[in-house]
Amino acid sequence: MKQKVYFKTFGCRTNLYDSQVMMSSLKEYDITENEEEADVIVLNSCTVTNGADSHVRSYIGHVEKTSKAKIFLTGCGAHTKGEKLLAQKRVHGVFGQSEKQKIDFMLSQEQPFYNPGDLNHIDESVVGDFIGKSRAFIKIQEGCNFRCSYCIIPFVRGDARSMDETRILEQISKLALNGFGEFILSGTNVGSYGQGIGTSLSRLMKKISQIRGVRRIRLGSVEPIQISDEFKEILDEPWLERHLHIALQHTSPQMLKLMNRRNVYKQDRELFEFLHEKGFAIGTDFITGHPGESEALWSQAMENVRALPLTHLHAFTYSKRDGTPSATMKPEVNGMLAKQRLHELEELIKVKNTAFRKAFGGELEVLIESEKEGLFHGFDQHFNKVVVKSDEDLVGNWVSVQKYEAREDYNYAEL
Ligand code: SF4
Repeated sequence: MKQKVYFKTFGCRTNLYDSQVMMSSLKEYDITENEEEADVIVLNSCTVTNGADSHVRSYIGHVEKTSKAKIFLTGCGAHTKGEKLLAQKRVHGVFGQSEKQKIDFMLSQEQPFYNPGDLNHIDESVVGDFIGKSRAFIKIQEGCNFRCSYCIIPFVRGDARSMDETRILEQISKLALNGFGEFILSGTNVGSYGQGIGTSLSRLMKKISQIRGVRRIRLGSVEPIQISDEFKEILDEPWLERHLHIALQHTSPQMLKLMNRRNVYKQDRELFEFLHEKGFAIGTDFITGHPGESEALWSQAMENVRALPLTHLHAFTYSKRDGTPSATMKPEVNGMLAKQRLHELEELIKVKNTAFRKAFGGELEVLIESEKEGLFHGFDQHFNKVVVKSDEDLVGNWVSVQKYEAREDYNYAEL
């Protein structure tokens, strides 16, 4: 009788993707969704903050109290916490992300082991995650060459490297034949795709757009400096979503320096105004409460945010990560104050998003992904939520919406 394996995944889409690959590579074991009946638990960890590390530790504590299952640690935490947890006999084995396709062999090890693998490994399979039967996350890139002072990712995911173009195109062709029309290109630093292999993100996207059945291409987060002149040539393409997520992380020039960011506020503003003129909805990442964020720098940052045509926000309060330059920076910002600033920012972007939706008088192109209580849910070309009332089952359909009501958090239509 095959042993049962339960997968516990923490962290980002790339970790979700890696767990998918492990599950699809597993042959000698059965997967169980029920943690209690597991003989083996694969813990795919995150280490992006100290908080992420403590979540992993408390999960191990929970398993130690409730189960006899053997724990195998993988993911980014394998590189920061793996050796210590192995020495404490809290996990049976530790392996790096590059070893994920050898999952059967890893789990069959009788003796405790530590195998960090190769941080610059390039995955063979490129399929990521699926929502329903209409959109697919395609991992095209891994790792990062930036060195933001608060971030541990380059040290646990390795240098930036691109997946094989032929494989990416092959996979998307297969999915498009199976009815997928929307593809989300993802990775650790997506905009780095093509570096060092004589191609670029925009060239890859043009090739993807020529695949029969590809209707819309979305992008994960890109860096402002990666919106090159070559990339600007594809901005009017009908297959490109009318939304871009461009990571600023802050809007105070002094804070950007402290965070060792490569973007410069003045250029960011010019870029955002250029994209806004072209009708793009624009999202960004932002960290509040990074050490050094004085009251004066915060009010300057907020003034600069007010001047930006932003519509979407992915923001967090700063969270210390041992081993990063920011972890020893002073003065630190009080956690409650950081939360207050985060809330201030979120409220502002919410107002800007509603204003954008109210001002946009055009047609919405919506891919319906799910149905709940008789209402259909999806996202439009601006990556805004759309709720549609209809007697017809619309799940998996592309619908064009002329008349809609811009409600607090979403657009509402009846078809
Ligand atoms: S760009 Fe900066 S924040 Fe993003 S993964 Fe790279 S180092 Fe981390």
